[in-house]
Amino acid sequence: MPLLTVDGLWKRYGDRTVLRGIDLEIARHEVVCLIGPSGSGKSTLLRCVNLLETVDDGAIFLDGVEITAVNADEDAVRRRIGMVFQSYNLFPHMTVLDNITLAPVKVHGRPRAEAVDEARALLARFGLADKAADYPDRLSGGQQQRVAIIRALACRPEVILLDEVTSALDPALVGEVLTTIRDLRSQGMTMLLATHELAFAREIADTVCFLSNGELLEQGPPSQLLKSPHHPQTRTFLNHLLP
Ligand code: ADP
Ligand code: MG
Repeated sequence: MPLLTVDGLWKRYGDRTVLRGIDLEIARHEVVCLIGPSGSGKSTLLRCVNLLETVDDGAIFLDGVEITAVNADEDAVRRRIGMVFQSYNLFPHMTVLDNITLAPVKVHGRPRAEAVDEARALLARFGLADKAADYPDRLSGGQQQRVAIIRALACRPEVILLDEVTSALDPALVGEVLTTIRDLRSQGMTMLLATHELAFAREIADTVCFLSNGELLEQGPPSQLLKSPHHPQTRTFLNHLLP
């Protein structure tokens, strides 16, 4: 059974239709990359999966249980699905350590000492042990984004959604964030990510999905989809991006 299933998902804002019947399955430990032009609906799809948006039609299932059902426990779902945004959204008035432990302690009711130990272990694992007591504005953009990823991991999610997490970064800082995502993959984390880093998608994805105007036009392994796409629109998009 897929860990995550998106079944016939439609999303509208007023009279504007943004997602048009998206079908997508993600297996446990699978890494799926969403690519497509700006405005094609990648962020909206991720936000729907994290229940930040209500859906107009269709359903989303986590481990076979519908999370878009009216009686679903949204907090319980978000505990199981982590999300990291383009703009890291760290709390500026809290230290790195407090940013990471906030949700585990306040939302999940974990003992503070335990949450702190786990946060320190995560910081050490990702080479940020010496930043625990710093405020976010003392960190580089790449370090802040890595802290945002650690903050998501601290809730022990089963799947992580990453929305263009390198696109706000100085090019010199992109590499360290991609290294972090590679590391998550090697640990078996299930991930759904929107990215415009095609070389990275080719390297990290099991499946690449091409979205255009709210439709998932085609999906396949990166070796196929990025090299010999079936759909003319995918070809046009890739020709535009790849020399
Ligand atoms: P992408 O992430 O692929 O660039 P988005 O999901 O952000 O695309 O946007 C898809 C479309 O939905 C765009 O046309 C965008 O303008 C529109 N959209 C996104 N959020 C809203 C909103 N809150 N209200 C109205 N339109 C929105
Ligand atoms: Mg987006």
